[in-house]
Amino acid sequence: MVRMIPLCQLKGGCMGCCGRNYVSKEEVKVAILQNTKDFDSINPQTKAKLIKFRDRAQPQELRNGVCFNIIEQKGRLFCPLHPAVNKGVDLRINHCDVDFQCRTAKLFITWDKNRQERFIDYIQKKELDNLDYSLEMDNSHLLDSFEAEEKEKGSNSNL
Ligand code: SF4
Ligand code: SF4
Repeated sequence: MVRMIPLCQLKGGCMGCCGRNYVSKEEVKVAILQNTKDFDSINPQTKAKLIKFRDRAQPQELRNGVCFNIIEQKGRLFCPLHPAVNKGVDLRINHCDVDFQCRTAKLFITWDKNRQERFIDYIQKKELDNLDYSLEMDNSHLLDSFEAEEKEKGSNSNL
């Protein structure tokens, strides 16, 4: 969850880049549930308490392959350290690579508006919950299937 391009917010929020070597959706779900419990028990209402939440684990530590900071509230996945939910203050600095973009995001920002909208529409039509979506962004499956479909349409229009 880096620079909040539209892709990072679809399907209830993406956490594809908030971890690595995911073993299974179930294990990711368990980790996020535990993170959310930790968050609720600290109930961070101040910057100091948010830092307390963040610093309960080292930056390189992962829980089932998942960052200790990603949580779920009201069905949405998000990072409480992100400036977008933290009055512009970025508490992720020195904790994760705030400039990281997944392969899909890197390509997406180079596309023209029409192609971007087609991709967003393609994603919205898929029945994916936030974890399926995150894992498919992480492994680039959505990008690859979209590009294959676009290629197919292109070749059919040349017939
Ligand atoms: S995996 Fe890609 S789309 Fe998902 S939050 Fe990270 S950069 Fe955004
Ligand atoms: S600190 Fe936040 S944005 Fe960075 S990897 Fe962890 S959950 Fe994701």
